[in-house]
Amino acid sequence: MMADDSTVSDVLIVGAGPAGSHLAYLLAQQGLQVTIIDKQAFPRAKVCGGGLSRKAMDLLGFELGAAMHQPIGGAILTYGNRGAVLKEMQPMAACTVVRSEFDQMLLERACAKGVRFCPETAFVDAAESADGISVTTSRGILRSRLLLAADGAASAVRNRLFGKDLVAYVPALEAMVWPEEGALERFGQRALFDFDGMPHGYGWIFPKRDHFNVGVYSPFGGTALRQHLDRFTAAYASLQRPHKVEYQGYIIPLANRRRLFQRGRVWLLGDAAGLAEALFGEGIYFALKTATLAARAIAADGLRGDSMAYSRLLQRELLPELRAANWMAQLVYRFPKLAFSHLVLNQRINQDFAGLISGEMGYRDCLRKTLLGFPRWLMPSTAPDAARIDSC
Ligand SMILES: Cc1cc2nc3c(=O)[nH]c(=O)nc-3n(C[C@H](O)[C@H](O)[C@H](O)COP(=O)(O)OP(=O)(O)OC[C@H]3O[C@@H](n4cnc5c(N)ncnc54)[C@H](O)[C@@H]3O)c2cc1C
Repeated sequence: MMADDSTVSDVLIVGAGPAGSHLAYLLAQQGLQVTIIDKQAFPRAKVCGGGLSRKAMDLLGFELGAAMHQPIGGAILTYGNRGAVLKEMQPMAACTVVRSEFDQMLLERACAKGVRFCPETAFVDAAESADGISVTTSRGILRSRLLLAADGAASAVRNRLFGKDLVAYVPALEAMVWPEEGALERFGQRALFDFDGMPHGYGWIFPKRDHFNVGVYSPFGGTALRQHLDRFTAAYASLQRPHKVEYQGYIIPLANRRRLFQRGRVWLLGDAAGLAEALFGEGIYFALKTATLAARAIAADGLRGDSMAYSRLLQRELLPELRAANWMAQLVYRFPKLAFSHLVLNQRINQDFAGLISGEMGYRDCLRKTLLGFPRWLMPSTAPDAARIDSC
């Protein structure tokens, strides 16, 4: 590729994850000239549970086809696998994907619209001029009118141009487990959430076509994640005697400390902006949502360096939901045992929680309803409507 490319794109996107590729697709649809760079060659692996909520699928608006590993029609809710209940979530509230395949599909979809992709090209620095921005990459200089940073939780663009302390994040650890014969079939189309899987957090088991993705996360952060993950996996028969296990960890960005999402011609999206949610650690939907809001802002205001339309849309349509998600996380994980017996097993409340995943319920509404029900859910809990099932 280029040493000093004289082509000026309308938009240069850094990072070909869900935020970057979806944005590239939407902007190409608007007829803009879009270049997207990624420091890695594609397809590339990405640390992620690969749980894709129905609201994320709806936002994408197309059939995932072979990229869908399992439709998820039920949630197994448990506290340390000492008895569990099955919450039916019909129609499909989520599905599982493997990120290398899912991200490749989104990138191909953008390229089919005319987006230029430069793999193995890392962002290094950027300098603005009156009518554009000049971006130094590991392979030379690229010019554009706007620089849209979708380069993930450890964003180099953010660190270089907005400062290193803008985003607060927590670690999460996962294992890919290729189990013994029959374990995946026994699990079926269910995702498991164990509220004793990690102190002040949860553990998950997501089934894929040929393996489980198993992980632990707490919005309060925490240490010794490997010990928690080992304790969590030891509680499940389905995870014993595996053929192969691979561990990987990364960070989930839960807050943008200064609510700063754009500076001149540079905008931050998805994880780079610090916009994952705290209750489940879900980030893909919010990455896609920032892409749709950035595309709307550009459709409204064009490629002006002084437009604040993107920040306004975030303030109006996304941040209040993420704040409510944060409150929900405080409510659930501060006293997890109490929350499990009185909130998670409460049929009305877990119906709302399922609605958060499918998109039928917003976080603000869910928080309001949960708080209004406070006197009722403090009373001794009645039997849940969900079916009790054997431990897994
Ligand atoms: C253990 C774990 C489990 C998770 N599980 C789930 C889950 O089940 N469901 C869910 O919704 N979310 C989950 N998340 C969160 C989710 O992975 C992220 O929120 C999501 O990937 C954010 O998408 P993005 O497009 O903003 O960034 P990313 O997907 O991180 O993409 C960023 C891209 O930028 C590229 N890049 C980075 N630096 C540079 C650079 N300097 N120059 C050029 N390119 C660069 C990277 O190579 C990458 O391709 C999980 C996170 C973790 C850590």
